[in-house]
Amino acid sequence: MKHEEMVSRILEMGAQHAAVVPMEKVRFEKAFREMCASNACGMYGKSWMCPPYVGEPEDLIARAQSYKYILVYQTIGDLEDSYDFEGMMEAGQKMNDLTQRIRDELKDEIDKDSLLLGSGGCRLCSVCAKREDKPCRFPEKALASLEAYCISVSELAAAGGMKYINGPDTVTYFGAVLFNE
Ligand code: SF4
Repeated sequence: MKHEEMVSRILEMGAQHAAVVPMEKVRFEKAFREMCASNACGMYGKSWMCPPYVGEPEDLIARAQSYKYILVYQTIGDLEDSYDFEGMMEAGQKMNDLTQRIRDELKDEIDKDSLLLGSGGCRLCSVCAKREDKPCRFPEKALASLEAYCISVSELAAAGGMKYINGPDTVTYFGAVLFNE
């Protein structure tokens, strides 16, 4: 599938902006994992797709860098105010639902080894099986975040011609498809 066509399909599915960026323009920073470890989101150690269980930073960076391109897309959610935690969670869920839809609708058209990443952990199950120390229920659909893969999302947004922040009382989330063809 041509890059322009992938971008327009993802825009049709509900992303506000989308762009394909060559992987050599992406900067990786292991220090992003320290932010995960500070547990501001409350998910550290509580999901198979969040640190520390998602994998070692070096291994995830190497996996991401094995792809030629990253198609990055964003959704912008409205908040009641900057303390609207529920609105932030709802917008994050919408982003990851969009990413699952992209997987379902483009699976026959993008290379089958592509890697999809979402925002802020998996969000597929209401409670991750990790909390019961059981295996992941949907390993083929489980989503890690761009940050878990140590991607500098603000720089990636700029490389794709997007704003990282979109004004007061909004929250912006990013997802991506990493692919070769
Ligand atoms: S698919 Fe479910 S069990 Fe697996 S990582 Fe995601 S939330 Fe956890």
